[in-house]
Amino acid sequence: MSLLDAVTSVLVVHAHPDDETISTGALIASLASRGIRISLVTATRGERGEVVAGPLSVLAGTPALAKERERELERAAFTLGVSEGFWLGEAPARAPGLPARRYRDSGMEWIRPGVAGPAADSDTDALARAPLDEATADLVAILQHVRPSLVISYDETGGYGHPDHVRVHVATIAASRSLGIPFAEILDAPAADADWFDLETQHETVVAALRCHASQLTVDGDSIVHSGGQRDPIRTAIGLRLR
Ligand SMILES: [Zn+2]
Repeated sequence: MSLLDAVTSVLVVHAHPDDETISTGALIASLASRGIRISLVTATRGERGEVVAGPLSVLAGTPALAKERERELERAAFTLGVSEGFWLGEAPARAPGLPARRYRDSGMEWIRPGVAGPAADSDTDALARAPLDEATADLVAILQHVRPSLVISYDETGGYGHPDHVRVHVATIAASRSLGIPFAEILDAPAADADWFDLETQHETVVAALRCHASQLTVDGDSIVHSGGQRDPIRTAIGLRLR
């Protein structure tokens, strides 16, 4: 028995292109292979992220980077088996009556050890500075459109404290609760009150989806190498905890 047993459609909410693959790629691929409908909402286009050194580095700091990251996300989502993707702030992931908007990547800096905040020079239209009610209303709109049986997003730390991730957690849990749709948070370690899924069989699919995000990362053996040089293991196991 798991919290996914009776689930027929899932809506996954992430902050930036590549998060869907890095943190939930194996889960999405596994669910999609079982015929479960997967909808993906992405809040920003990762405009402030660094760019992998090489032919794409000319895009850094230009509007073309957002376009490239849209294309990369589209390819990765297709590779994982996502049925439909949406941008937060654009219909149908936009509250009725409001003009479309973009939530921009807030960037991140350490405010004090262990506590991250938006970059001091982040735009006024950055996700972390946008009214929480507005992002929540946009999520309510897409939840009413998709009517998933389960919503999945970050836990309250946002995984590692990125302000956009934390914002997405807060807005998504509020929107899910307002409609009575179950919400599960992503855990990267097993916990007594959570379900744990070992999805190593999805490794190749996750690697293929990771490679779609060529402006953000490279794959080296069993590691993800981020544009800044940090390495992370490729994750194919994930915990989910109902909130
Ligand atoms: Zn992110």
